[in-house]
This record gives sequence, C-alpha cells and structure tokens, in this order.
Amino acid sequence: MKVAIRDDDTSYFTTPEALSRVYGDVWSRAPVCLAVVPFAVGYEQPGIPPAHWHSGESFALDRNPALVAFLRELIRSRRVTIALHGYTHQDYPDGYEFQSAPDLPDRLRRGRAYLETLLECRVSVFVPPHNALSKGGLAAVSASRLNILGSFLSFRPSMRPWESRTPANWWAIQRYRRATRRTRGEPLVYPHALKYSRHAEFGCHSLVPGTTFDALQRHFDEAQRFGGDFCLATHYWEIDATLEQVMRAFLDFAARQPSVRFVPAEELFT
Ligand SMILES: [Zn+2]
Repeated sequence: MKVAIRDDDTSYFTTPEALSRVYGDVWSRAPVCLAVVPFAVGYEQPGIPPAHWHSGESFALDRNPALVAFLRELIRSRRVTIALHGYTHQDYPDGYEFQSAPDLPDRLRRGRAYLETLLECRVSVFVPPHNALSKGGLAAVSASRLNILGSFLSFRPSMRPWESRTPANWWAIQRYRRATRRTRGEPLVYPHALKYSRHAEFGCHSLVPGTTFDALQRHFDEAQRFGGDFCLATHYWEIDATLEQVMRAFLDFAARQPSVRFVPAEELFT
C-alpha cells in the first residue's frame, strides 16, 4: 500500500523555517509533495501577510532566494517533490483561480515551465487551488497531461468534459459507494487513481482543524481493505500543536503496517 503526503500553498510568502517546523523530521522518513504557487497573488490566508491579502500584486517565487535554495536542496535529497498549485492562486469575484481565471492553458504551461527551470525538477502533478476546478479548468489540466491530486473532485459526468473513460470511471465510483454502504450524497475518497485518456486523478484525505486520528485511521483501513492507496493533504500554515500530534500519530500508525510504503505523491499514479 502506497502512502503519500501532500502539502499546499508553498509560495513567495513561505519561509524555510515554516516548512521545517512541520516537516523537519517527517520528510526524511516520508517524502512530502509540496504544491507550489509560482506567481502568488495574496488572498485572505493566515500564511500570507495581511498587507498582501488585497494588494493584487503577483510575487514570483524567485523573489524569495532563501526559499528557492532550500527547496532545491530538499528536491536533490529526495525529501520533497514539487506539484503545480495554480499560477497565482488568486481569488476572483466569481470563483477560484481554476474556475474563473482567463487563459488557463497558458497558466498551466508557463507555471509548470517556470517551476521546472527554477527548482531544477520535473512537475507532473497539478493541485487545484481550493480544490476547485470548473469543467473548463479540468479540460485545460487534462490537455496539459498533468495528473490531478484533489480532494472531493466531482466524478459526475455532467460536471466533467466528456471523454471515452468517463462512464466507466463513474461506474467504478458507484460500485465503491455501494460496497462501502454510502448513501448518494455522502462524501467519498476513491482509493485508486482514476485514469482518463490524458491524465489521472487521485483523491486525498484532508488533515484540517477538527480532523481526528480516529477518522484518518478509519479512512486508511477502508482504503487498505479495498487494496487501495492513501494520500494525506494538509497546509503547513494551519498545523498547530493538535494537528501536528494527529499527523505524527497517523504517520507512526501507517509506518507500523507491514504493507505500507511511503512514496512521493507522483507514484500514486504509476
Ligand atoms: Zn492552496
């Protein structure tokens, strides 16, 4: 069973210390997939200084050289991998970036090339800002051939661009829903990568304020029962003492399972 960790929102506004505080003794035992914003525009988020919440200014990652050097070293030592987390991550009056921004194909192409060159790494995974993707956003990501790590993405055919694999994947979800005795509206994280013609999707389990170890263990047990894999998704800026304890308890628990192998999140798609 593959287990991976994803952490969102590393950007110009992130300090090396903020990442080390949470992952300093985690990423040597389990690689962390950092979903990075290449040209961050501020929005209301505790990890961003309030002066930039509404400034509209875009900050390229290379304006934070200490962070860039830190990330390069972490990548070289295989403690982190890099995913693309939007282009600016900015919020629009009518939605989040990959629901409402213009030029999504361009943002994907330029954002990916920028991170690959700056951080000297390969980028093969996209994490939608706020886990939100419109039909057009999903079509753009698929055309760019980036795999998607999400949380609660919609599988309903009406919410997606049509393609030949859509019905079979929809039925796989329905079978899983029945097998786990979930009702129609109940949230579900499918524990296998769903392959589409040009990309694949994998759903993560959120570690956010209020998440308990017991809940994560239940989700893990279910994924394991169905021969699946598991990805934990969180935000470094949200990890307080309580969440840190939950994360550590979960990683210790996972490490004790004989079948578990901690992998970079990219390997969930192979
Ligand atoms: Zn984000």
